[in-house]
Amino acid sequence: MEIKITKTTAPAVKPEASVLGFGKYFTDHMFIMEYNPEKGWHDARIVPFGKIELHPACTALHYGSEVFEGLKAYRKSDGSVQLFRPMENIRRMNRSAERLCLPQIPEDTAMQILTEFIKFEQDWVPSAPGTSLYIRPFMFGNDETLGVHSVKHATFMIITSPVGSYYKEGINPVKIMIEAEDVRAVRGGTGEAKCGGNYAASNRAGEKAEEKGYSQVLWLDGVERKYIEEVGAMNVMFKIDGEVVTPQLTGSILPGITRKSCLEILRAEGYKVSERRISIDEIGKALADGKLEEAWGTGTAAVVSPIGELCYKDVKYIINDGKIGEVTSHLYDTLTGIQWGKIEDKYGWTVPIK
Ligand SMILES: *Cc1c(COP(=O)(O)O)cnc(C)c1O
Repeated sequence: MEIKITKTTAPAVKPEASVLGFGKYFTDHMFIMEYNPEKGWHDARIVPFGKIELHPACTALHYGSEVFEGLKAYRKSDGSVQLFRPMENIRRMNRSAERLCLPQIPEDTAMQILTEFIKFEQDWVPSAPGTSLYIRPFMFGNDETLGVHSVKHATFMIITSPVGSYYKEGINPVKIMIEAEDVRAVRGGTGEAKCGGNYAASNRAGEKAEEKGYSQVLWLDGVERKYIEEVGAMNVMFKIDGEVVTPQLTGSILPGITRKSCLEILRAEGYKVSERRISIDEIGKALADGKLEEAWGTGTAAVVSPIGELCYKDVKYIINDGKIGEVTSHLYDTLTGIQWGKIEDKYGWTVPIK
């Protein structure tokens, strides 16, 4: 696919690493292309970053037809830039698009667009420890009618944002509230699609948790409200009596690429791992028996995030004295080592930008 390039005439001054945070600054350019049934994907272009015009009846604004992805570009110590398992993001975006009746993008075309765009913007990949360029591909329905039917016109874009180290003051375990009323997703719904609507439905519980001093929400299954699903924008894992356990992918859980990578590392290294249903009662019992050894979340933004406290219906569960555990640290070191090119990538997960 040919990509037309229009360079900005007003490049921005790149922010210092210390002020980056998450998703506050954007690079000089963005990628955009459109879809319709006659032409397929067309008008692929890199243009100066800026506002876009939408018809007020745009499908995404009314009926929520939007999917997105999140991955990062990392700068290695030799100055080169690499991506981490980008084909996994491309495949997941196409699965999300399929669920929401949005058009798919052929895998090789999506990979070409992604690598060409990142190569074009590569000066924006920061180099300070822990920093990276967050990449946000997204697609939305863009029909100019209020009629409710499947999407005929769509727009795909990629925007990129230099982001700071998630753990500026060292890795501090997070406190998480288990939500007992709202649910995030049910089997057959859109839980396994990475779509904006899932987040809109999660906000109320997130606010409630924040008011009580918890940083994120842990969701239970939508039917029995008994089995653990995932945390906000992270999958969750526990170490119980020497074994790593994580909720199996039932259709209502987002299949995280960090989750998958952690499981592959643990299995390759001979850890006991199982994907199965985990009830909140089992967690309570393991804690009471002194067998709940570690808990952590996994996701692109935080990589691996230790969980120091869970709260369920006002009962507090303190895990590992609120400290980061051994397996949690090991996974963090291994993943970040591979991502920033500090340790050998024996899994073949990294893709250099050349
Ligand atoms: C993106 C996301 C994750 C984590 O997925 P990664 O591929 O590991 O970044 C987990 N849960 C939800 C709801 C997500 O949107």
